Amino acid sequence: MSKVAFIGLGVMGYPMAGHIRSKGQHDLTVYNRTLSKAQAWVAEFGGQVALTPEEAAKDADFVFCCVGNDDDLRQVTTGERGAFSSLRPGAIFVDNTTASATIARELHAVAAARGAHFLDAPVSGGQAGAQNGVLTVMVGGDPESFARAEPVISCFARAVKLMGPSGAGQLTKMVNQICIAGLVQGLAEAIHFAQKAGLDVAAAMETISKGAAQSWQMENRWKTMAEGKFDFGFAVDWMRKDMAIVLDEARGNGANLPVSALVDQFYAEVQAMGGRRWDTSSLIARLNRK
Ligand code: NAP
Repeated sequence: MSKVAFIGLGVMGYPMAGHIRSKGQHDLTVYNRTLSKAQAWVAEFGGQVALTPEEAAKDADFVFCCVGNDDDLRQVTTGERGAFSSLRPGAIFVDNTTASATIARELHAVAAARGAHFLDAPVSGGQAGAQNGVLTVMVGGDPESFARAEPVISCFARAVKLMGPSGAGQLTKMVNQICIAGLVQGLAEAIHFAQKAGLDVAAAMETISKGAAQSWQMENRWKTMAEGKFDFGFAVDWMRKDMAIVLDEARGNGANLPVSALVDQFYAEVQAMGGRRWDTSSLIARLNRK
């Protein structure tokens, strides 16, 4: 049993921390900016509430974190009363936030200067994956700290893989988001076309999903997309945050991402239509707009 701190009990963090407690039987201390969520978590799972990230990390062997973006991550790590001010030598900080590779490398260096370790470990699999403990985790960092952290990460994951040095986890998550952006736009156009062509959309989707056009998005989302229902997980605001990270990285490494850049602008239109909290499959809404 290890001492584990978890910072950020949002849609993802709350159930992830729950799996570390219930599957791993670890001793948990949780911090959440809105205190009531941390209190609710402890009422459900046990453990201790900390009032600051610094207090949460104080005695921890592992500090997990799942907050919104780079700025949030900076605040809870190197900010005032952040976790890095109490991170003890040998401790491993595992960041599950989807953030930039730049901040991952920066925090890896700050942790190393304290004799501690930092792994960037963004996740894929959405709210349902977090609740069911079957996330995919893409990790960047040192092999030794990965080997120590992997059993704890596995409490909420179906697949955990070390992708390379610090930043490689975030870069792999960017690859994931590039795939999703293009794929969902293609699927949205396909359903929109099928509707305009007067086809039986259900028959068309069920048939082609047995062939080469098959995808997770098609199997799980075609029906709700055709019905104009967009309340199924990852929000457009989050996706735009991720696309900003992707496009910024591409500007630096020279990758050509014309479709990703365009789809990012389509998501901006969805936001302007009132769809900031709609899920990412809502790209079809801008095609169907009158
Ligand atoms: P969320 O429900 O909005 O939760 C965000 C958490 O971060 C909350 O606990 C929030 O505290 C905390 N937080 C935000 N800014 C903070 C700050 N400056 N200081 C301290 N705490 C702060 O978000 P989520 O859906 O769990 O997503 C978390 C991360 O996972 C994001 O990077 C997202 O891109 C990624 N992700 C999400 C999904 C998904 O389907 N939702 C899937 C894959 C990856 P409060 O409770 O006080 O607001």
